[in-house]
Amino acid sequence: MKKHVVAYKALSPALLERLREAVDLSCIDITGESGLARLEEALPTAHGLIGSSLKLTPALLDKALQLEAIASISVGYDNYDLDYLAHRGILLSNTPDVLTETVADTAFALILATARRVVELADYVKAGKWQRSIGEPLFGNDVHGKTLGIIGMGRIGSAIARRGRFGFGMPILYNSHSPKPEVDREFSARYCSLDDLLSEADFVCITVPLSEETSGLIGARQLALLKQEAFLINISRGKVVDEAALIEALQAKRFQGAGLDVFEKEPLPSDSPLLNLPQVVATPHIGSATHGTREGMARCAVDNLLAALTGKRPPDLVNPDVWTRRMTDHPK
Ligand code: NAP
Repeated sequence: MKKHVVAYKALSPALLERLREAVDLSCIDITGESGLARLEEALPTAHGLIGSSLKLTPALLDKALQLEAIASISVGYDNYDLDYLAHRGILLSNTPDVLTETVADTAFALILATARRVVELADYVKAGKWQRSIGEPLFGNDVHGKTLGIIGMGRIGSAIARRGRFGFGMPILYNSHSPKPEVDREFSARYCSLDDLLSEADFVCITVPLSEETSGLIGARQLALLKQEAFLINISRGKVVDEAALIEALQAKRFQGAGLDVFEKEPLPSDSPLLNLPQVVATPHIGSATHGTREGMARCAVDNLLAALTGKRPPDLVNPDVWTRRMTDHPK
């Protein structure tokens, strides 16, 4: 009998066909009022789950007693409780690499948009306010040659560093758990403490995963270290920054501006003070949202899920301990 897979994110016809050849597939649209209830109904017979942008809580997964594997269509896995998955022996996979360059492009879009006031000035033109050559009050800031500080020098951080170093001639500072000699060599980058990075960089770009360790990593004290001429770019997860402290610092104009792709609460509530600040460019979590990359991520997730459900090690396994235990308990 075929295994049952529940897809809770829309997939392309090609991927649906591939899944249907191998498994018994249910597609659940979790948007709308009864979306979650429909998912809950499908869970008791599910062997595999594929999707993203939903917190799969233990309470929800307790309903999926046959579950063997979850394939997240994302690189971040803060929507899953790893201890719970380990306890249940459920494999979790993600989609690294395939989205790295696209997310780095998004970071640079935000760097350029904030520094050169692209959104604000495009709105100015559309509003018919461009009557004569603009004056100094509407000038922006240079990007090339300025110092780029990257918090979290992993896959995406390195791709941003490459753009900054070789595309824009920017000196690179970074902070991670430990220095990375290959990064220092490739980008002439300098490893430094978080505080030094915050107080020296002109553009501070956050690319750490959300974890207990990084939740609230950038609070009022850290924001106070930013230079007056600095810009803050967050493409990681909203909760890495204390949003109330960020709003307060921006309202007080303690630094130049912020480019934000992620927020504490998503979708961003329409009454968020961030929306009234001209120096903020807010995008709706579009880091990886191009046609090509989203399809690549979904394809990668399907590969991971089908591997897991056919007894093979998924290529992008987040919790290898679960796999090791499975192999020890049930050797092939
Ligand atoms: P990655 O390769 O694992 O890189 C993450 C880096 O963060 C690692 O190098 C790690 O340093 C560093 N790090 C972790 N905790 C840290 C801390 N407390 N202080 C300083 N550095 C820390 O991951 P990635 O593929 O680049 O993705 C990064 C994150 O981007 C994802 O987890 C996701 O949340 C986010 N993301 C967002 C979007 C979007 O749409 N906006 C899209 C994709 C990804 P070490 O190597 O030294 O341990």
